[in-house]
Amino acid sequence: MIQRLVIFGVGLIGGSLALALREAGAVAEVIGCSRSPENLEEAVRLGVIDRWTTDPAAACVEADVGVLAVPLGAMRGLAEAIAGHWPEAALLTDVGSSKQAVIDAVRAGFGTLPRHFVAGHPIAGTEKSGVGAAFPSLFEDRLVILTPADETSPLATERAAQLWQATGARVEFMTPAHHDHILAATSHLPHVLAFALVESLARSGASDEIFHYAAGGFRDFTRIASSDPVVWRDICLANREAILTMLDQFQRDLDGLRAVIAAGDGATLESRFGFAKAARDRFSEQMQVQLDQ
Ligand code: NAP
Repeated sequence: MIQRLVIFGVGLIGGSLALALREAGAVAEVIGCSRSPENLEEAVRLGVIDRWTTDPAAACVEADVGVLAVPLGAMRGLAEAIAGHWPEAALLTDVGSSKQAVIDAVRAGFGTLPRHFVAGHPIAGTEKSGVGAAFPSLFEDRLVILTPADETSPLATERAAQLWQATGARVEFMTPAHHDHILAATSHLPHVLAFALVESLARSGASDEIFHYAAGGFRDFTRIASSDPVVWRDICLANREAILTMLDQFQRDLDGLRAVIAAGDGATLESRFGFAKAARDRFSEQMQVQLDQ
């Protein structure tokens, strides 16, 4: 049981975590801390937090567990603001979508990486943002990746894993670099492509007509282009190298596909699309098995 949980950044992810832990009966009191009093008042009204402050240092008082749930670009400033105030034995974790950048930001902000800081990333979310979009079942049956550093206390890692398990999530461990490499492929590249496609079509002369006739395929492919621009700006900057590597590889493959279409090579097109379909079908089956387990 967490006596006092502090959520720094009461938005979609921070708010959903608070709601999930409340629903699980795993927390006695939730303090919210971010910049806007209006958002924090809304969080109280929605039953996400009990009380709030806009002062990160004040939020640290007698905290048991803290969660950094702000956009990646705000992590360093937040770490600086709570360093010297955060109780040494209290668990501190985060939900940032790129892990090495958060570890570097916390280390820089505190001067040294706190032994009770455990970096983490829930592989769950929606294209919505803000506390109004938070819901308690967001992490149910979803993966949470923890990337403890060499100096991280095993006890803190165990507590972070228990916290996420209480939300219904499954916890896995990996190094920060491996996490950043994998997520560049599975999450960051698709978001960049969705933003790029919608931007390209929206800027084209016939955009009204294109969007008028857009159907299910367009909706499926572009849903994530409604995601928060600040959150995704920060992810692209924080995981720049891994994203660039994935983009270069994708660009080469797309050029190859373009050449096949230009050549009118139906056999190769069918074979390549068949390969992709088989891979996607296998992935869908695996997802179903995981959800059934
Ligand atoms: P969000 O809904 O926009 O929430 C962000 C929260 O941070 C808001 O409460 C905002 O409140 C606060 N905030 C923003 N800038 C701040 C600053 N400079 N200082 C202090 N507080 C600040 O975003 P989110 O989707 O929950 O994302 C939060 C984190 O979760 C990000 O690090 C992201 O990488 C990670 N994540 C996101 C997803 C996803 O699908 N969205 C999934 C997994 C992980 P105020 O504006 O009132 O300050």
